Amino acid sequence: MAGVVEVENLKVVLGRREILRGVSCSLGDEGAGKAVGLLGPNGAGKSTLIRTLLGFHTPSAGRARILGFDCHRETREVRLRIGYMPENDSFIGNVTAVNFLRMFAELSGLPAKVALEKAHETLFHVGLGEARYRELRTYSLGMKQMVKLAQAVVHGPELLILDEPTNGLDPAARQRMLRLVREMKEGQKMNILLCSHLLRDVEQVCDEVVILKDGMVAHGCNLEEERRSNRRFVELEVVGDDGGLGAGLEGIGARGVAEGAGRWRVVLPAGVEVDALWGVLRREGLLVHRLTHRRDTLEEIFLKAMGHIAHTPGEAA
Ligand code: ADP
Ligand code: MG
Repeated sequence: MAGVVEVENLKVVLGRREILRGVSCSLGDEGAGKAVGLLGPNGAGKSTLIRTLLGFHTPSAGRARILGFDCHRETREVRLRIGYMPENDSFIGNVTAVNFLRMFAELSGLPAKVALEKAHETLFHVGLGEARYRELRTYSLGMKQMVKLAQAVVHGPELLILDEPTNGLDPAARQRMLRLVREMKEGQKMNILLCSHLLRDVEQVCDEVVILKDGMVAHGCNLEEERRSNRRFVELEVVGDDGGLGAGLEGIGARGVAEGAGRWRVVLPAGVEVDALWGVLRREGLLVHRLTHRRDTLEEIFLKAMGHIAHTPGEAA
């Protein structure tokens, strides 16, 4: 199946510097409603890639397609099908939220009456129903982010592109934002491209992830597969004679490294559950002082990707 976003050897030069240095990737599945995360540290080129997909930058080499349309030559076709939540604010302060949204819906081609209906409906959907007749300049940062999300989806796009959607949000608002985005993917089968420097955002919403660093793809992976094949790490602190623990762990297919003073690091391969570990500890007659879990795949993938590029430039592109 064709990817929703297809990028081939894309290069973009801004102010004499090559910001994207040959990016290639195929993201999402047409018709599948997938969320793809574009992850990378600040300055990696995420926003530049998105802005190139939107047709704001002209590539110096390579090409990009969204839903089969060329991002550079068929910008109109592309823009008709996508919604974009930019990183920066671009509000008209003395306009009410509902008028702002109606304007965006009309600009996207909806008839006036439908546009107004959609404006109301979408504002309720993102939790701004009560505040919809207030002027945008009176909105808090969190409310502004929600209006930005609302204007991106008011016309029912096939692909929703979000640039750092949780910027400036407190933990509760951040969860609400991520939940809304997940619902759009699951309920409305919308394709999502979520761009963030935050691992946690990508982890909570996305099925696939592409990691960008220094204008190149450092790593791409399917998070579902990674999660399935994921080994888990457990940190243990036990009291008692732990001389037989290493062998006991081998007995259940796990591997343990003693770190002294009753501390252990244990790797549980896929299929071995923590119950089995508790069984071993019981049989060894050990008292468990502490047991902490780690299932932090994406973080490890991310760190590896960062290191990989740093040590072997050129190899990862
Ligand atoms: P990210 O979104 O991953 O944080 P950006 O795409 O915003 O990264 O920026 C990548 C690099 O490109 C940065 O070093 C930034 O300074 C530079 N850059 C972005 N836009 C421009 C521009 N219009 N002119 C010159 N340099 C730019
Ligand atoms: Mg950015």
